[in-house]
Amino acid sequence: MYLFVIDHPYHYEAENLCRVFFPFDKVVTLHALQDADEPQARTVYTALEAGRYVVRIHDESGETVRPSPQAAEDEYGLMALLFSALRDHTGKLPRWGMLTGIHPIKLLRQLTERYGAAEANRLFREKYFVSEEKASLAARTLQAQTPVTADVGENDYSLYISVPFCPTRCAYCSFVSQSVEKTKKQIPQYHALLLQEIKATAQCAKSLGLRLRAVYVGGGTPTTFSAEQLRTMIQTVRDAFDLSACTEFTVEAGRPDTIDREKLLALLEGGITRISINPQTLQDNVLRNIGRRHTAQQTVETFQLARDMGFTNINMDLIVGLPGDTYESFCDTIEQVIRLDPENVTVHALALKRSSRITQSGEVNRAHADAALADRMMAYAEKRLTEHGLTPYYLYRQSRMAGNLENTGWAKPGYVCAYNIFTMDETETVLACGAGGVSKLKDPYSEDLTRIFNFKYSYEYISRYGEILERKEGIGKRYEQFRKRIC
Ligand code: SF4
Repeated sequence: MYLFVIDHPYHYEAENLCRVFFPFDKVVTLHALQDADEPQARTVYTALEAGRYVVRIHDESGETVRPSPQAAEDEYGLMALLFSALRDHTGKLPRWGMLTGIHPIKLLRQLTERYGAAEANRLFREKYFVSEEKASLAARTLQAQTPVTADVGENDYSLYISVPFCPTRCAYCSFVSQSVEKTKKQIPQYHALLLQEIKATAQCAKSLGLRLRAVYVGGGTPTTFSAEQLRTMIQTVRDAFDLSACTEFTVEAGRPDTIDREKLLALLEGGITRISINPQTLQDNVLRNIGRRHTAQQTVETFQLARDMGFTNINMDLIVGLPGDTYESFCDTIEQVIRLDPENVTVHALALKRSSRITQSGEVNRAHADAALADRMMAYAEKRLTEHGLTPYYLYRQSRMAGNLENTGWAKPGYVCAYNIFTMDETETVLACGAGGVSKLKDPYSEDLTRIFNFKYSYEYISRYGEILERKEGIGKRYEQFRKRIC
């Protein structure tokens, strides 16, 4: 489809909104009518004309024209106009209304801080057109995360460590994750440099007087490291950082085919407080469809092994919308997970990323094509996890998600993962180590965030490691600016 963006700067927001309504269209954005060189089945025209916004949608179902009743004001004015035109043209009512951002709970928090909970809820419903059930989910999530975010001090931060290797690449994956077969040789060198970067980051945090609250090792699949590599990585963190205020240390064990007793022992003896064992699904046919080499039974056995060895805080990730999964099989997975009784369950809606194998091969699974099915699956998860005593505590969204839904972390009382809240609410600084890591420096006195990127791929990380250390110098400089501004 063509999206015309004429004489206004809001192309990014307009594209995102178009994708909500037409998730399978390729959006080609043009800034002048004469640039349209090939006829398209659908056009969405947005423009500022004679001081007013106008939206025109044309496709095989007809034409909708929506001029703004008042003079053009801001981004919201145009997006609300575009949203109402798309809604009326398609007859679709997106559950999250016109919200397309990653962090809806952060927006709700900001509105709540400004106007109070009741007014924030009204604005969510009436200004942003969020459905009643999603507004309620957002309110529950905000309520659960507030005690954690309220406790953040101005010098607090979290540490993220990236291990961007996996045994195979899942069909839906777009992360920086390379299969071990292809990159095995890089692992020892990567590991050695990672330990150096961890030490350099600790030095930097120490010189700035920062206080570490949470450590999260993610990826990829960190347990592609050997038990010995895991031990030395954890020990390096323990030796380099002051962990006296750090209340959690998570390692995503991730895929059951990378976990064994020896690795779990390394994590346990290293004082890891939380691990993830991520089934995504407990249906063998679906596991095969997504390119996993393990069975559902292996996931269950790995979980039980971790429990027997003494892990008391385990997360399990699930995905709505995987190819081959049906409503019945998804519900069966939920029931199996509930029987295992993990402390955290994270339910994702499959996001079709451009670089994933599923997207590239053109496979479209039913739950992705059928928003109502994805919705039913998510509703079942929400109902059953609530009945089982879990509460939603962090939530985020991505573009092109099944059913235009969300990813939600659920926790038993007392088991929320603070790191997940900090990173999604952007409450405090996150210092990141490893390939694909992004340090986010939060100005403690405003909502400003500065990002410092590490190289994406492990081979770049290895070959240009010196540049990573140079970029780290930016952390100190930025903190100086934050602190100067307040003096
Ligand atoms: S386990 Fe995660 S990071 Fe690894 S390939 Fe699968 S989706 Fe990607």
